[in-house]
Amino acid sequence: MSNSPSVPATNFIRNVVTEDLASGKTAGRIATRFPPEPNGYLHIGHAKSICLNFGIARDYGGVCHMRFDDTNPAKEDTEYADSILDTVHWLGFDWGPHLYYASDYFERCYQYAENLILAGKAYVDSLSAEEIRAYRGTLTGSGKNSPWRDRPIEENLMLFRKMRAGEFPDGAHVLRLKIDMASPNLNLRDPAIYRIRRAPHWRTGSSWCIYPMYDYAHAISDAEERITHSICTLEFEDHRPLYDWVVENTPVPSRPHQYEFARLNLTYTVMSKRKLLELVQEQHVSGWDDPRMPTLVGLRRRGYTPESIRLFCDRIGVSKADSLIDVSVLEDCLRTDLNERAPRRIAVLNPVRLIIDNYPEDRVESCTVPHHPQKPEWGTRSVPFSRELVIERDDFMVEPAKGFFRLAPGAEVRLRYAYVVKCTGFVLHPDTGEVSEIHCQYDPDTRSGTAGADTRKIKGNIHWLSVAHSSEAEIRLYDRLFLEPDPAGMEDYRTALNPDSISVCPASRVEPALLTASPGDKFQFERNGYFVVDEDSPGTGCPVFNRAVTLRDTWTKNR
Ligand code: ATP
Ligand code: MG
Repeated sequence: MSNSPSVPATNFIRNVVTEDLASGKTAGRIATRFPPEPNGYLHIGHAKSICLNFGIARDYGGVCHMRFDDTNPAKEDTEYADSILDTVHWLGFDWGPHLYYASDYFERCYQYAENLILAGKAYVDSLSAEEIRAYRGTLTGSGKNSPWRDRPIEENLMLFRKMRAGEFPDGAHVLRLKIDMASPNLNLRDPAIYRIRRAPHWRTGSSWCIYPMYDYAHAISDAEERITHSICTLEFEDHRPLYDWVVENTPVPSRPHQYEFARLNLTYTVMSKRKLLELVQEQHVSGWDDPRMPTLVGLRRRGYTPESIRLFCDRIGVSKADSLIDVSVLEDCLRTDLNERAPRRIAVLNPVRLIIDNYPEDRVESCTVPHHPQKPEWGTRSVPFSRELVIERDDFMVEPAKGFFRLAPGAEVRLRYAYVVKCTGFVLHPDTGEVSEIHCQYDPDTRSGTAGADTRKIKGNIHWLSVAHSSEAEIRLYDRLFLEPDPAGMEDYRTALNPDSISVCPASRVEPALLTASPGDKFQFERNGYFVVDEDSPGTGCPVFNRAVTLRDTWTKNR
């Protein structure tokens, strides 16, 4: 049923891994890691990183570590951490026993910092944050040494120990590396590696009141875990010399190397964690897992499968060039996957009644409908046909436009899997002027699957349900959350929110087989798109369906 596993195309990072294995640089060992900060939910951009890191481990006989980069206690939470683990598993990857936390290395990071102080390579600076910024210099002008830069080693050690012991208020001192205030790379101008911060940590509680900075802790975590290829996004390219400096100047057990790739940007969405949090907090969406969110929990609830997301990551590839990927590429991956896997069902989203005046009132026939038109082995089911049906409102036009081959006064259409009917009239609602009823005559000799079925050439072929043999269901149609292709590039991305990003079909009807569907089940509703039973659906009896994606890309056409 599933797609054959796709082999990811090679890319420059995979080439490095291949070469390193060939040259023996890593002694035949490959270890990567996926290092999220537990300060938000994972999004589709993270999926690119997950597929890259876990994919390399899988394809080169290596391991990929799952590591929480939990060095910033203020924003972190177990709720995020739990969701992250769950989501990586859902995507189809497994870290086995390799679950780690940067906070596990706090003691080691501290010891290495003392070593650096003793070696004269780190000092306690007592300048204020603003002063440090001012001394740092600019991209064109070099920085200035702090007056505390030449503190005696003993004094540095004593002060650093007191920082740890909680003897100073937040911000009173920082520990800085003594590298080069004139370096053209700002990251090497004596970067701070420890700050005082009285914030309880979700794992270490109040054991620490000083925390290592990301650049320092990250390099040490990689080296402690004997990571061979530390893969991160391009904005860390300028941090690589610092990464290398830390690894070379601390007694870590290995020598990892950092490689950078371009982060994923998608049209019609925002990806920054801050903006995603705002969307949730300001209630522009119903939560992190709102089906319009680019979070993986949101995409999952929208109906995205792990396979479709992995296919997407394979298709977009990995490079060093920043790019904005059209969201239609993602949507198309879902179509490709669900076209193969989703059983076909019938739902009428926007119904209007159709009455077959010459069909006996008490007759009910069973029409045989395949579960998948290209997969006869999936079998068939029966859908009841009777005198009173519903069809889609837009399958009927009082005055048919040119090229409209569906139902219109005097016109004939095939009711899919059943009979050919001819429209004999219609009734308008006295108040609204809308069509409230369509009347037809059927031709008993045209039943699908019988000898007479194809004797007449009928262009239109529409779906239907019997009123008495179908049920109301809540069907939610989702659309893109933003109307502009690059909301993140706007002054206020909120002004681009799409007011019609969700609409609910008020009177939609579904065939009996859909009543027993369970949350997460996916279907193609014939002619209407791919749908998933919402995860919060009340279950058997009255499922709620989300439209995951339309059958074709209609975005540009409809705008
Ligand atoms: P923040 O917004 O807080 O800086 P982040 O987007 O860097 O966070 P992390 O939790 O640090 O998120 O990300 C974990 C890993 O996922 C990192 O290695 C990061 O490079 C990668 N990653 C994050 N966003 C993207 C993206 N859009 N495309 C590819 N990789 C990404
Ligand atoms: Mg980050």
